[in-house]
Amino acid sequence: MIRKLPQIVIQQIAAGEVVERPASVLKELVENSIDAESTQIKVEHEEGGLRWLRVSDNGVGISADDVPLVFESHATSKLQKLEDLDSLDTMGFRGEAMSSIAAVSRMHLWTSPRGASIGCRAKIEFGLWGGIEESDRRIGTEIVVENIFERLPVRSKFLKTPIAEARQLSSILKRLALSYPECEFSFAERGKSPRFHWPKQSRFDRCLLFFEATDAERWFEGETEDRSWKVHFVFLKPRFFQSARQNLQIYLNQRMIKDRKLEFAVRRAFEGYTETPHLSTGVIFLEGNPSEFDVNVHPTKMEIRFKDAEEVFSVIVHALRSRLEKMHQDNLPSEWSATKPVELALSASPSSMRASVMSIEEAPFEVPVQSVFSGGFVNDSWKFLGVIDSTYWITQKQGALFLFDQHALHERILYEDLNAQFDKKGILGSQRLLFPVDLQFAGREDLEDHRSSLEKLGFDWTIDSKGKWKLIAVPSLLKRNPVELLREALKGLAGSKETVFRDILATMACHSAIRAGDSVPESTAHEILVKFQSTDALGHCPHGRPTFVKLNSRDLEKLFHRV
Ligand code: ADP
Ligand code: MG
Repeated sequence: MIRKLPQIVIQQIAAGEVVERPASVLKELVENSIDAESTQIKVEHEEGGLRWLRVSDNGVGISADDVPLVFESHATSKLQKLEDLDSLDTMGFRGEAMSSIAAVSRMHLWTSPRGASIGCRAKIEFGLWGGIEESDRRIGTEIVVENIFERLPVRSKFLKTPIAEARQLSSILKRLALSYPECEFSFAERGKSPRFHWPKQSRFDRCLLFFEATDAERWFEGETEDRSWKVHFVFLKPRFFQSARQNLQIYLNQRMIKDRKLEFAVRRAFEGYTETPHLSTGVIFLEGNPSEFDVNVHPTKMEIRFKDAEEVFSVIVHALRSRLEKMHQDNLPSEWSATKPVELALSASPSSMRASVMSIEEAPFEVPVQSVFSGGFVNDSWKFLGVIDSTYWITQKQGALFLFDQHALHERILYEDLNAQFDKKGILGSQRLLFPVDLQFAGREDLEDHRSSLEKLGFDWTIDSKGKWKLIAVPSLLKRNPVELLREALKGLAGSKETVFRDILATMACHSAIRAGDSVPESTAHEILVKFQSTDALGHCPHGRPTFVKLNSRDLEKLFHRV
């Protein structure tokens, strides 16, 4: 026999989808408090919210006429017509939460609208309206949710222990509170003193509390506006990533979101500043026009669809990187930062790029050749003091001692140049091979599928009359292993990795850079040092290893226990 389900049962089933556990109830209630312009929000619980959960706020309240509506599904004060979805700046908008929670619990509500002389209280039990009555006036709204899921045994099987649920409550409240530093939050077990109490504070200070940071010096923040987006961020300095528990939070218009691509953008931004970009710890606060994205994808509203995801990606990468580059510059002697970055010969044009590459082994650099290492050149106030193991350069500049790793340094410079060239022109310089090279590797048939990408990198090949595959052109910068690079590029392009081009450029830089153990003419070393000082962000090789170590006189004094 087919029978229509009673309305209450329908509501309870629907509720299960919105209301997963006490923490999701808390999230909905606190978001409502935030939407109600509260500046103080208090959360208390008993048994992790399984028995009892209370959220009180000092927000605008609800008028007695509206109270019954709050519990009806699709009743909301925030969205009137579909077009409003594009301009919404509140957390909720579906009018689903209150009715859903009320369907699976015993709910009590006390509220007074601002300016009213009396308040009211209402009750609803497992979806059944329990009436409304007058009560004394209080500020804002207080909602108690009891015996959640008592009538939904299936759901309650999935719930964890009270302790685990309490941990979830606290964690979700902290994440909500992170993006509302102007609001005070407290969290307590019923009848006990608060587990945490966060006062109204600056965004930076709120972040420090969130990450339980003990040393503010280890953190940095920044803010930029770029195209249609505003980005504010607070991050642990990359050299401390390894000592922290990885934790990356992303907010969009103060709403916490989960977006793999944006997480990836953060990692990408830190690449080259640390060996562990995957341990990035910090927060991104992204602000943009609601017409640029769609939050209406999933009931829990964590997932976002961006109109132009590429744009958001690059906005985040640039915001972080320009700040990181500035920090790097701040660590250099002052007159360096004052130097205007010069247009590098390497990135100027493919032909000049080629010339400077050749110069390492063949053509000389166009810098005056001075006396050799023995005497040390003095130029641009660099003093070259010597080389250890044909790998580490000892140099002096302005009273500070600099040790360089020649491979890491050169690799990084080439990498930056390649990136700049690629970003600017979308294509790298290519050089024809006088003697085409046989391509013998398995899977080479797939090359054709990626022809246009590989051509952008500077590769070209043909199949001759005998059916042999021949490599006829390679990136002009490349000095070694063109076939190996081609294979790696092919492998990368076949996967769907988003950094594929960056990875290939990094490999290319690695294959083209002078190696550890190469003996380097002084003029080359000098040329590289000049570039080092005029380019941003060269403190680490593309894999994150440091390119140099700097010891200033203060450091030396410490080493020799003079201070
Ligand atoms: P939504 O938040 O999507 O509008 P809810 O079901 O969460 O839907 O809430 C329904 C309505 O109840 C809200 O639109 C709001 O008008 C009112 N409301 C709920 N909680 C509060 C509160 N703490 N303060 C003021 N109004 C509230
Ligand atoms: Mg809501």
